[in-house]
Amino acid sequence: MALSDREFLFELRCCWWAERNWQPARADSTVLVARQLGTKRRRWDTIVFECDPDALAHRANFGPERLDSDLLHVIRNAPVEWAYYREALPHPGYPWRYVRDAIHEADGRDILETRRAGNRIEIRRRWPYREWVDRIISIENKPDLDASAARSLGPQLEYDVALALADEVWVATNRTDERVQPALLEGLPVQAGILSLDAESLEAETVWHPRTLAVDEPGTRILERPDGGSHDASAARFEYVSPAAKARRRLEIAERAYERGWRSFVDTMRPDCRHFELRSQGQLLPFCRAKSRCQTARECRGSCPAFEPEPPAWRTKEWPIEGGPGKRCRRLLEARRERRRPRR
Ligand code: SF4
Repeated sequence: MALSDREFLFELRCCWWAERNWQPARADSTVLVARQLGTKRRRWDTIVFECDPDALAHRANFGPERLDSDLLHVIRNAPVEWAYYREALPHPGYPWRYVRDAIHEADGRDILETRRAGNRIEIRRRWPYREWVDRIISIENKPDLDASAARSLGPQLEYDVALALADEVWVATNRTDERVQPALLEGLPVQAGILSLDAESLEAETVWHPRTLAVDEPGTRILERPDGGSHDASAARFEYVSPAAKARRRLEIAERAYERGWRSFVDTMRPDCRHFELRSQGQLLPFCRAKSRCQTARECRGSCPAFEPEPPAWRTKEWPIEGGPGKRCRRLLEARRERRRPRR
């Protein structure tokens, strides 16, 4: 299977490489890797989280599912002693009924204590919520970094650098015998690092070191920019983003990564198709027998013309306990994802 010619495969290889080889700034950090996460406006391909190992282990108290923004508001502010929730929590900036929903959800997940005092709901925390992410690194995967790819990537990286939501921004490109042309680098912001990765051997070389971005300072979100034509004198539109808003967004992204990791690619594919396989290339990668190659997540859907559901016999006979190869694929990847999440 040629690993370098398809962006999706390159992305999975990059995640695998990062999981095993990423050198965190603090030597004792635990590295967690996820893919395809970000904000409403910007999604990163590969995301590396450098985590405080004790705080990450403590995070396991709250279960494997993410805490969304409503839950984070409750859990992070829950008092040590019983208190009426409206007096204990800061005003959320949205209606209190959503807070009540989050309290009920937290109670159902056993991560918050609740009781009734008349018609008031009182809450008490079970554990403090510790900040478990030290640094976030975003990596854009561009196996074929030619001039046109560099041109389209440039504005996206400028957006990331101006906002400074991640501590470092990188581009990973496929390693070839040719050097990355300096002219290509000119199209990319100097703050972005360039990694040259051999998708087959997983050898990597830093072509350009990134600068650390100011995540604790206000960021600039670029909303609109002039198209750059010679007669275009329009101004760019942008807005400031406060450090507090950035910190909240970083935590929400980290929580989603905690839940999903990067092996969840199978969740968006059709492992219940009879042509779906996981093949081992050191790591488990999807393979389509109908296409005789690795399929992308985009094409591996129910609308795929070659999709055929796995025969019922696979569920009832050969796979009596496990519920068919599709379920087995999911479990296999889930088990590997679990191993990356320290338990309490
Ligand atoms: S035939 Fe289509 S749906 Fe089935 S595994 Fe291949 S790409 Fe996925």
